[in-house]
Amino acid sequence: MNTEIQKKLNELAIKRSTPFCYHDYIECPDGRCPKCGSDDLMLSVRGVGCEYGTDWIVEHILQTELEPVNMDAAFEEMIRECYPETTTVGWLELDTISVLKEMDPISWRCAQADWESQEAGDEQIISFDNGSSYYSRKDLEEFIEART
Ligand SMILES: [Zn+2]
Repeated sequence: MNTEIQKKLNELAIKRSTPFCYHDYIECPDGRCPKCGSDDLMLSVRGVGCEYGTDWIVEHILQTELEPVNMDAAFEEMIRECYPETTTVGWLELDTISVLKEMDPISWRCAQADWESQEAGDEQIISFDNGSSYYSRKDLEEFIEART
């Protein structure tokens, strides 16, 4: 996990939320409950929810404001750049990607999985849900830049 991006998303989550005392059920913008004095407060986002921590807010912000990478399309595009567009099979001039996918779908999936883990290792793509979806680092950086 890219800690710099995570840190900035957490800051954004805090900016977008208000501390909330669940015991007294009131917002506490000062970070301390005026009724019971507690500073062990949840965070509240109006219309979304109220929980401890910032993870759920970060998740909500990403889901509603940023598109995850379409990994299938991104992998295909990368392969298209590396190989000739068409491949000759006998007298047929065929689309290279279609030939690859159709002739050996398992090999295609393995290659995509390898590529995904390499991209994730290089932090070109970043996941906040253990690899179910990925956001591009560039999109995240631009997103953060525009909002902080
Ligand atoms: Zn309270």
